Amino acid sequence: MEVRLEIEQTRINVEFLPSEDELSSIYSEKMASALQFSIAASGPVDFRLVHNDHLSLIILLAAHPFAKGDLTIPLHVSPLFANACDVFSRYRPVFLSATNKPYTPRSTGRPGLAFSGGMDSTAALALLPSTTVPVFLDRPHRAKTTLYNKSAAKATLAFLEAKNIPNISLSTDVEFIRNPIGFPTDLASGIPAIALATHFNFDSIGYGTVMESAYRIGHKKARDYEHSPHYRLWSPLFSSAGIPLILPVAGVSEIGTSTIVHHSQYRDMARSCIRGQWPRSCNECWKCFRKQLIDQAIKGQTMSDEEFKRAIQSKEVASKLSSEFISHENVLGWALERMERGTVLDLLYQRLVASTYSLNHLNSFYPNSINLIPPKYRLHVLEQLRNYLPEMKIEDQQRMVAQDFSKYVESTTFKSKVIDFKTLIKN
Ligand SMILES: [Zn+2]
Repeated sequence: MEVRLEIEQTRINVEFLPSEDELSSIYSEKMASALQFSIAASGPVDFRLVHNDHLSLIILLAAHPFAKGDLTIPLHVSPLFANACDVFSRYRPVFLSATNKPYTPRSTGRPGLAFSGGMDSTAALALLPSTTVPVFLDRPHRAKTTLYNKSAAKATLAFLEAKNIPNISLSTDVEFIRNPIGFPTDLASGIPAIALATHFNFDSIGYGTVMESAYRIGHKKARDYEHSPHYRLWSPLFSSAGIPLILPVAGVSEIGTSTIVHHSQYRDMARSCIRGQWPRSCNECWKCFRKQLIDQAIKGQTMSDEEFKRAIQSKEVASKLSSEFISHENVLGWALERMERGTVLDLLYQRLVASTYSLNHLNSFYPNSINLIPPKYRLHVLEQLRNYLPEMKIEDQQRMVAQDFSKYVESTTFKSKVIDFKTLIKN
C-alpha cells in the first residue's frame, strides 16, 4: 500500500493506494470505496509543524486493518520510531529514511486527551492534571450517519469554555475509510490529539479506555492488558514518538466512571448518547438504556417491568439483549443485582453470565492499571483515583483477571436461559 500525504496549514490529507495483492486479500473487505481522509482545524494551528513520527503514527492507526506487504510512507522518521515499527508482521512500514530527530516535548509538556464528551473520557479528564487538553473529534455529517446529533458535543465544549478549561475540536472523517463505518483501530479516536501534539507540547496521549475494554472484564475471557498483544503493539509506538499512552480509567469499570463523573465538576456536562437533541438523550439507543439502568441503580431506584418492556421496543436494545453474549454485560449485572426485579427483568438478570459471580468490585479501581500511566503522572492519577473510588480488594483483583467463562457459555444451563429470555421478549 502506498500513502499519499498533503499537508497544509490547517489541513492534513491522507490517501491510501492499495496494491493488487491487498485488493484481492481478505483485508479489502474492510475497505470503504474511497480510502482517503483528512484532519482539519478551524483555529490557529499549523499542521506543517507536526512531527513526522506523529504523522506516521496517524497513518499506521488508519492503515492497520488493511495493509499487507510494504506500507510506503513518504516521510523521514526518527530511528527510535522506525525501530518500534519492527513489531508489525502482516505488513512492513517503509519510510524515506530513519534519520530524523525524535520528538521531545519541553519540560512544560502536558497530556492531550482523546475526548468524546461521554462518561468514560470525562472521567479520564477528571483524573488527569488540570493542564490536560481535551481534544474533541468532530465527525462530519454524511447521509448514512443522520442519527448523529452534534448538539451534545457543542454543549460539552461550551461547558468547558465557561469553566476556562482549555479545549479544542478538530474534524476528521477517518471513520469513513472503514466498511462498516467506524474507527479503523480503536486508538484512531486519538488521531486529532496526536496531530496537535507539537502545537500543544503534549508529552502523552490519553484515552478513556475503561476496564471492560482494556482487561476485557465482562467478556467471555479476561486478559492482563499490560501484557496483551494490543498493548504490546501500540504502547511502544506511542512511546517512541515521545507521546506515551496514558490510560487513567483502564482500571475503572463503567460503573466507576459514572461514579467519578457524578462526583466531579463535570457532572452536568457528560453524556454518552450522541443522538438526542441536547439536553435530552434519545432514550432509544443501547447507550441510553445502559446509562439509565446504571443511574437508577446508583440512585437506589429500580426499573419496573413496564419501563423495561418500553425500553425493548427499541430494535437496537432488543437486538443487543438477544445476542448470546451481551457486550459489557457485567455492568448490566451490577445494576440489576441491586434492583428489586420484576419477573421480566429477573429473566434478563438470570441469563447474564454476570449473575453467577460477585460484582461488588466494579465500583472500585484496579491498582495494577497504574502501570498504564507514564511515571511523571502516576502519583497524581493514583491520588485522584483514591479520591473517588476505593481500591479493589486483592482477592477480587486476582479473581477478575483470571475470569474465563468460555465453558459456561457453551453449557446447556446458559443456553436455555438465553432462549427463555429471547422467547419472552419476542412476545
Ligand atoms: Zn441515546
